[in-house]
Amino acid sequence: MAIERTLSIIKPDAVAKNVIGEIESRFEKAGLKIVEMQMKQLSDEEAQGFYAEHKERPFFGDLVSFMTSGPVVVQVLEGENAIMANRDLMGATNPQEAAEGTIRRDFAESIDANAVHGSDSAASAEREIAYFFGK
Ligand code: GDP
Ligand code: MG
Repeated sequence: MAIERTLSIIKPDAVAKNVIGEIESRFEKAGLKIVEMQMKQLSDEEAQGFYAEHKERPFFGDLVSFMTSGPVVVQVLEGENAIMANRDLMGATNPQEAAEGTIRRDFAESIDANAVHGSDSAASAEREIAYFFGK
C-alpha cells in the first residue's frame, strides 16, 4: 500500500467534448485526489518536451499538433498505487482495445485523440510532475 502521485492530462478532445467533470468524477470515485490542477494551452515547445521520449516515432508530429490543438487540464492525482490505478481507469492507448468502463473506451475516438494521459511508471510520474509543477 503505497501512496503515490501521478501526472494526468485531460486532452483537447475531451475538453472540447465538455466531459472534464465526468472524467474527474471517475478519479474521485476511485479514491484518487486531485492535488494540483491547471487548465492551459500547451505551446509546441511544451508538448515536444513533455513527449520527448516519443520524438523519433512516426506519429510525433501528429501528437504535438493534437496536444496543442486546444486547452488541456494538467493535474496531479494522489492515492494508493495512483500510477497504475490511473492507467487502469484510462484503459488501453487505442480506445478500440480499451476495456469496457474505461475512460478511453467511453470518451475517446481514436488512438491519437484518446482523451487522457497518465504517467506509466514512478520515474515518468516524477519527471512529468516536475515538468509542469516543479518539485
Ligand atoms: P499512452 O501512455 O497510453 O498515452 O501511450 P504512449 O505513451 O505509447 O503514446 C503517447 C500518445 O501518443 C498516445 O496516448 C497517443 O495519443 C499517441 N499515439 C500513440 N501511438 C500512436 C499511433 O500509432 N498513432 C498516433 N497518431 N498517435 C499515437
Ligand atoms: Mg505513455
